[in-house]
Amino acid sequence: MSEYHNIESALIHGGIYGDPHTGAVNVPIYQTSTYEQHGLGNNTGWEYSRTGNPTRAALEALIAELESGKAGFAFASGMAAITAVLSLFDTGDKVIISSNVYGGTFRVLDKVFNHFGIGYSIEDTTNIELLETKITPDVKAILIESPANPLLTITDIAAVSELAHKHQLLSIVDNTFMTPYIQRPIELGADIVVHSATKYLGGHSDLVAGLVVVNDETLAQRLAFIQNSTGGVAGPFDSFLLIRGIKTLGVRLDRHVDNAEKAAEHLQNHPAVKKVYYPGLPDAQGYEINKRQAKNGGAMISFELKENYNIKTFFSSLQLIALAESLGGVESLVCHPASMTHASIPYEVRQKVGITDGLIRLSIGIENIDDILSDLDRAIAESGES
Ligand SMILES: *Cc1c(COP(=O)(O)O)cnc(C)c1O
Repeated sequence: MSEYHNIESALIHGGIYGDPHTGAVNVPIYQTSTYEQHGLGNNTGWEYSRTGNPTRAALEALIAELESGKAGFAFASGMAAITAVLSLFDTGDKVIISSNVYGGTFRVLDKVFNHFGIGYSIEDTTNIELLETKITPDVKAILIESPANPLLTITDIAAVSELAHKHQLLSIVDNTFMTPYIQRPIELGADIVVHSATKYLGGHSDLVAGLVVVNDETLAQRLAFIQNSTGGVAGPFDSFLLIRGIKTLGVRLDRHVDNAEKAAEHLQNHPAVKKVYYPGLPDAQGYEINKRQAKNGGAMISFELKENYNIKTFFSSLQLIALAESLGGVESLVCHPASMTHASIPYEVRQKVGITDGLIRLSIGIENIDDILSDLDRAIAESGES
């Protein structure tokens, strides 16, 4: 955070604020593809909206400031953002990814970048000593999520970044689940932060977008080139919606997390529940590390019901909590990772990394907590009656 000392204020005033031409407190939606030039070789600094658009530029400045980075880039989706980052690598290079990374990240490496000779290996990034033994000369980056999807596994971001730098690799953190309000990987030493802004940053389940932040001029230039060359940019209207969403990120997340802490504790004490995965619970894997690198445990919870409960009945009995892909919106959502978000990961790999068929993932919304808990309780009770 540069100009504003506290993130709550930077969320609202960071980046480029308002419109100097009219005094409008919001950045206008520059819904234009091109810009009239004064004469040959004499333009306003804006030439074509794939290359640059003032609404998108305001969003890019905002996310760079919030993540304490040097430059930000906005894309049409989280996957377009991740694709742009992976486009930094060459044939023969290899990227290490955490087990449990977002299914789409695995898929784009496995099915797309694979064709260009860019390899990957899935490693347990929670074990730094073991991770170091996996660094072969072709490895060029380590891409992690903390917490990782869907078991909310915590990786030590500072330790991975230090290891990466020791071996001249890039450390890349997908910060979608935490957002800069809770965790700022660049301050912990990461080189690149990526986001699916579709989730908490947008916050209202009404857009798809992605963001990248880097902390190095050369990387910024290379990414600007890739962004303009490959063209998966965020449009002006989505950029506006994201700036608008980010303004309330702090108040939304305070409520999301408060609700999630209560729901995690409630589920942990529920006799029907076998296991709860939530980084804010003191007995969670990586609890101490998460406490050091993040403000709290976030608002995503996964859990498993005991074997005698019918998971299909559980999903169909929920009334308030909607069965849907995605997360991070104001409404509570539930998903079944094995058949939904992580279906692109082969069955054997899923079993190996603990994404069992009984696993349930919750994105806790900002509704009244008693309503969320009674919806869960009723669905659990009904799923046990069969
Ligand atoms: C959703 C998600 C993505 C992909 O983002 P899209 O906006 O859906 O393309 C990447 N990483 C994580 C952690 C996600 O949750």
